[in-house]
Amino acid sequence: MNILHTVEDCRSFRHTHRQKTLGLVPTMGALHEGHLALIRLAQQKADRVVVSIFVNPLQFGPREDFSRYPKPLDNDLAACESEGVSAVFLPDQTLMYPDAVRTLVHPPVEYTGKLCGLSRPGHFEGVATVVMKLFNIIQPDIAVFGEKDAQQLALIQKMVRDLNCPIEIIPHPIVREAGGLALSSRNRYLTTPEEQTAALILSQTLFEIQSQFTVNSKPISVPAGLQSAYHKALEKNEPAQAHFQLEYLEALDAMSLMPVDTLRAGVRIFMAGTVHRTRLIDNILLLR
Ligand code: AMP
Repeated sequence: MNILHTVEDCRSFRHTHRQKTLGLVPTMGALHEGHLALIRLAQQKADRVVVSIFVNPLQFGPREDFSRYPKPLDNDLAACESEGVSAVFLPDQTLMYPDAVRTLVHPPVEYTGKLCGLSRPGHFEGVATVVMKLFNIIQPDIAVFGEKDAQQLALIQKMVRDLNCPIEIIPHPIVREAGGLALSSRNRYLTTPEEQTAALILSQTLFEIQSQFTVNSKPISVPAGLQSAYHKALEKNEPAQAHFQLEYLEALDAMSLMPVDTLRAGVRIFMAGTVHRTRLIDNILLLR
């Protein structure tokens, strides 16, 4: 497995494999089964796979967990090696952001001015900018992104369309624990059994909405239908009643992120909240 530190390393890797299709899986490390599933999908779609590991300071707010974000690099490299990854790109901050004055990618406000964009100003500009840089440095043919971060996925797809990036974006469904919790590097902050149970309120609410949508032939209106499903799930989850703070629960068109009045297939339900200081996000794409 190649370890790439510089832009020159990446260019030379790309040149060596110029006859091959190249897949990129961008990550911030602390790899879990969700990331590994993305890597396996990339391997099905491309001849060679590069995983990037970079905790991007540009996408963290001043009071967020940038400095305490987990960095188990040895474990991550071992995981990539055992998955048969061709190369890992490990840039440092000065390589990614050499100048204090810099060009940023600003996705449209229709994509950033809602959901996580409201509580995390500048977050998606940071994401779009780093992803564009990774695309330019690695020059992949495809890139795999998780539906776990569905707002991010939608605005990366928009950026690729709008700016003609010569890259196919391949989504991967959310990987969950057996109990329903979406895997996340931040789940390790949930240390007590109470916190872990409270965190299940996200998937419990989303699954409740999906099941009401499946059984109900009458239209389910937004936001009332979402709120009643949330309260139904909350009744059954006592730790969440005490420890979960809802940030948003919204139904939007999955591609355009435009609001909808009633639920239909192709709508994504987005949910976020905190269990003590741990912020969690989840979503579900409604299917008939
Ligand atoms: P991160 O390291 O958190 O920036 O995530 C890197 C990539 O992995 C992003 O495309 C995420 O959407 C994806 N990802 C993280 N957790 C999951 C999950 N539980 N299921 C599917 N994809 C995920």
